[in-house]
Formats: sequence, structure tokens, C-alpha cells
Amino acid sequence: MGAGRGNKLGSVPSSPTIRAARGVRDILPPERWRWRQVESAAHELARRYGFEELETPIIEPAELIERGVGEGSDAGGKELYRLLSQGRSQASLVLRPEATAGVMRAYHEGHLDLGPQPQRLYSLGSMFRHDRPQAGRYRQFHQFNVEVLGSNAAAIDAELIEMGWEWLHGLGLNGLRMELNSIGDETCRPAYLVLLRSYYRPLKERLCADCQRRLEDNPLRLLDCKRPECREQSGGAPRIIDHLCSPCQESIAEVRRLLEAAGIPYRLEPTLVRGLDYYTRTVFEYQLDSLDGAQSALGGGGRYDGLAKALGFPDTAGSGFAMGLERIVLSLPPGPAPAPAIELLVLPAEGVEAEAAARLTRLARTRVAAAADHSPRSLKAKMRSAARSGARWVAMVDPAEASAGRVRLRRMDSGEQSELSWEEMVEVLG
Ligand code: AMP
Repeated sequence: MGAGRGNKLGSVPSSPTIRAARGVRDILPPERWRWRQVESAAHELARRYGFEELETPIIEPAELIERGVGEGSDAGGKELYRLLSQGRSQASLVLRPEATAGVMRAYHEGHLDLGPQPQRLYSLGSMFRHDRPQAGRYRQFHQFNVEVLGSNAAAIDAELIEMGWEWLHGLGLNGLRMELNSIGDETCRPAYLVLLRSYYRPLKERLCADCQRRLEDNPLRLLDCKRPECREQSGGAPRIIDHLCSPCQESIAEVRRLLEAAGIPYRLEPTLVRGLDYYTRTVFEYQLDSLDGAQSALGGGGRYDGLAKALGFPDTAGSGFAMGLERIVLSLPPGPAPAPAIELLVLPAEGVEAEAAARLTRLARTRVAAAADHSPRSLKAKMRSAARSGARWVAMVDPAEASAGRVRLRRMDSGEQSELSWEEMVEVLG
């Protein structure tokens, strides 16, 4: 409403309608209601698994994120939203593209490392990646993020996988799949990477341009490249699971035993990897058949025992997962329509003082969700609007009724109407 005094409407220059920025979207009430159900299920799941909620800032120091997601990686490089520095500090800040590095920072900065271990932590919030927008891929999106810090037990990985599975399953998603792999650790991975490079070098010309570049410095990423020409080659590549050191072998064997005992179906997927050095051992991903190929992952996670050190914190074992809420909400089976927000509408006739209408509404609100229609429309028009709103009740009041403390209460479904005192109305609603 920023029009200055004397700025007549007619003199406002016409300009193109302002729309949301590219790659972001509004979540309007009917859809937001579904989100609320998904979020409530996440809070409830976390509570039952003994996880505590935390919230970290959307803005983080660039260095934390660059070290956390790797400057050379997509999320750490070209996809990172950088803030123009303002003020004297000249601090280099970014919008977080994922939660884990911030959670690790908060765990140390907030001394959670001194509390009982491990710490089971979760959060829900927005992430930002300056990616090319496409179906199921946004520049601002939301994740349910779950981390266990301070334990290197394989049983924690299995617990996390079970937790994510239970949540997705409980939301009623059909066609869920879970894929599992181990990517070894600093003992066994280097020798495997030598093997992998020697496998790919003679095939270099057949790979996509990105993979040709990655071959020497990050060959693991070649395995999960989604381009058809690279997929053709990954099938014959040596599998890291066949080259694990014995502690890594024992770790994945224990995860598998625990998943089998819990009845969680999974498929070993030798091309499932994480491209960063600090990821260790278990990696997993939840897929949904009905989603389109490259965007079929609802979420994923794994163990990152090397992350804390990479960020400059004391060595801390960690494991976790991140689920994308957009894809989950998109894939939910149809559910019941949301209940109308307003259960009772107060319809004051012309001449009823605003204070009286407000008092009547306040009384109704002690029992049901209530609001008043203050517009200067006829009663008939107000009734039509009340019917569209889905309100279960309307409370009509004219000036004489207002001063006598009376009201006409009408049930919208049956049309049944009674004349009552305001106190009687409260009884009926209660
Ligand atoms: P990541 O943090 O890349 O492992 O992603 C975890 C999950 O977050 C994915 O499986 C997606 O469901 C979701 N996700 C990641 N990036 C995006 C995006 N740009 N738009 C929407 N969802 C995303």
C-alpha cells in the first residue's frame, strides 16, 4: 500500500505483473496442509526414535559450506548462492545448500559434543541450490534432515535406514525402494580408486564431458552419472564392495544383517556413491518407482566419519540422511480434503457495531474456529460467501439482537436455525 498521498491510481505507471523468482514456488493453503501432515509425521517419527530438534541458520560462512560440500562439487561451486557482503566485516556468506555441515558446526559450537553421546538430532528447513530448474528440482527446496553424531557403530546406520523407511512407508508411498552400498574408508578406498581409474581410462572418449574431467580427481562420481553414455560403462566397472578392508566388510555385513532382521527390503547397488572424500562406508538412497528417472530419489544419506576433520573440528563420527519434501508431497496418495479453516462465520447486519460483532466472534472462538464477515454486503451476499467458505455454522445478528444479546445460529448443512442468547450459542457449539 505504498502509494504516496495525492498519488492518484490513474497516474501509477503500468508495469509487468511481478512473479515469483525462477526456480522457487509458493506453497498455497490446500497444498501446505499436506506439507503439515508430512512434517507432523516427521516430528512424531523423530520423537519415537529419541531424536531432538535443532535449527541452524540458513546463512552460513562460505568456508564451512565449501569445505563441507567440496568446492569442486556442484553444490559447493556453481550451485552455491553467495551473498554480497555488506557492512564492515566483509564476511563471505552463503545460503546453505544442505544441512549437515551446519549441524556439525552447531554440535561443536553449542558444546553438544560434551553431552551424552551419540547425539540424535533432526531439523526441517529450506535449502538453496542455484541449479537449472526442472520438474522436481527447485532452487529453494525443503529437507527433513536427520543426523547421529558421536558414534561410528554400523548399527546406527541401520537404525537411520529403518527410520527413513518407516517414515516414507507410513506416509503411504507406493513403489518405494531402498538402495545400499559401502564406499569403504581411507584404508581401502585409495587402492580401489586406482583400479577404477584404470578401468575408465581406456573408455574416456565414450564418457560425457563432465566425467572426462572427473576421471582423475573424482572417479567415484563416474559411477553414478545419469547420462546414458556413462551408464553404459558403469555396469562393467569394478565394484568397491568387492575391495573393502575387513573392518569395512564387517560394517556393511552388520548393516545388512540388521536390515534383514528388521524386515527392511534393500538392493545392493554398486554404483551408489558419494563423491566426497569424507564419506565413509554406508551409503543409501530411497527411490520411488513412479518418479521420473534422474529425479527418482526421495532422499539419501550415509556415514561421514571424515567430515568433522575436513571442517576443522575435532574428529567426530557421524551418519545421517536428508529427505526432499517437495518430491515426497508430490508423490503422496490422494488424501482427504483439508477441513475448512473457518467453522463459524459471524454475519453482522448493517448497523451492528464492530465491537459487538467482535465480542460475539470472540465468544464463538472459545468453542470453534470463528471469524466475522465485516464487509458492507447484503446478508444474502454474505450467506453465499459463507457457503463457499465451507463454514459449518453462521451466526446472524442485527442491531436489535446485538443490543439484546441474541443471535440466529444456522447449521449450514441442514439449514436448521435457532434463535438463542449468546451464552446458549456457546453451549450449542461446545
Ligand atoms: P542431497 O542432499 O543432494 O543428497 O538430496 C537429498 C534429497 O533432497 C534428494 O533426494 C531430493 O529429494 C531432495 N533435493 C535435492 N536437491 C533438490 C532440488 N534442487 N529440488 C528439490 N529437491 C531436491
